[in-house]
Amino acid sequence: MRDDSSADKPTADKLTPEQRSWNMSRIRGKNTKPELTVRRLLHAKGYRYRLHGKSGGTRLPGNPDLVFAARHKVIFVNGCFWHFHDCRVGLHAPKANAEFWAAKRTRTRERDAGQRRQLEDAGWEVLTVWECELKDHSALEAQLVHFLDDRGPTGPGGA
Ligand SMILES: [Zn+2]
Repeated sequence: MRDDSSADKPTADKLTPEQRSWNMSRIRGKNTKPELTVRRLLHAKGYRYRLHGKSGGTRLPGNPDLVFAARHKVIFVNGCFWHFHDCRVGLHAPKANAEFWAAKRTRTRERDAGQRRQLEDAGWEVLTVWECELKDHSALEAQLVHFLDDRGPTGPGGA
């Protein structure tokens, strides 16, 4: 399995060594443990998926972590800090380089929203699973099953 996270990597040459190492540790965290938790759970439930944005030969916007091509659904597993989640971890503002992080994380959040719109415009249903939602496995499982098994044309909400 290849790590296809290059789209998430910052332009390293513009960062101080501290920012760079901090970045890398955070990004690696996003691409391993939370994603693996979701993958293991889905695998145990018998769902089959592809990894990292591929559907046929086409790359999907944002390289979704999990792609369910037949269902036309994709799942992103997002780290709360990096993707600026509206939760305690996501809203925590580092004191060092505060402006740098605020700008960077705002761009990430805007980019995420744009990619979600592109996917939805192309007929994909999108679910974002947040790192902070992984602790409660039964709630997570219910959320995933509900998303994947829902065949209705449009569900309520969508946020
Ligand atoms: Zn969160």
